[in-house]
Amino acid sequence: MYCPYCKEELKVNNEELYCKAGDSYFSKHMEKVFNVAIDNSKDVKVRIPKVENSEAGRFFCVNCGSKMMKIESMHEVCTCCGFEINKRTFYEIVEINPHRSFR
Ligand SMILES: [Zn+2]
Ligand SMILES: [Zn+2]
Repeated sequence: MYCPYCKEELKVNNEELYCKAGDSYFSKHMEKVFNVAIDNSKDVKVRIPKVENSEAGRFFCVNCGSKMMKIESMHEVCTCCGFEINKRTFYEIVEINPHRSFR
């Protein structure tokens, strides 16, 4: 998995996903949310709305490391693999798993 903030490859540290570049831990809960989104990505890819002309999102895809595209505020999707960050996940990443160099 890749860090959604900086696409650094995440390492496991004390059984939690850890981004060294951002000194950022991702909780077990977050890991589960990421895994569910990866499981769902194939279905999402099929129904991705037209995003060719949308702007780049705030995050990188946890699954494949591509820059995500913004669908609407706090809702982003990876057009390569279908990984989706919905509003709730977006909020949780920013609020619960802060990243040093992210603003
Ligand atoms: Zn990072
Ligand atoms: Zn992806």
